Amino acid sequence: MMKLDIQFFAVPFHRVSKTRKRMRRAHNALTAEGTTTCKNCGAQIKPHRICPKCGTYKGKTVVEEKA
Ligand SMILES: [Zn+2]
Repeated sequence: MMKLDIQFFAVPFHRVSKTRKRMRRAHNALTAEGTTTCKNCGAQIKPHRICPKCGTYKGKTVVEEKA
């Protein structure tokens, strides 16, 4: 039997108006990623991650700086 390259989609019954489309997309905006300050050096860092500036996490040195 031949394989047909036809895909079936749900066909919209009504055209979505500009206003309805824009109202739906009003909630699609991305929000800024949250940041915290490093307790050791005070840099703005991502939460629950080792500080890339000084290499500490929860006040302990995890990664030593390269010489
Ligand atoms: Zn730091």
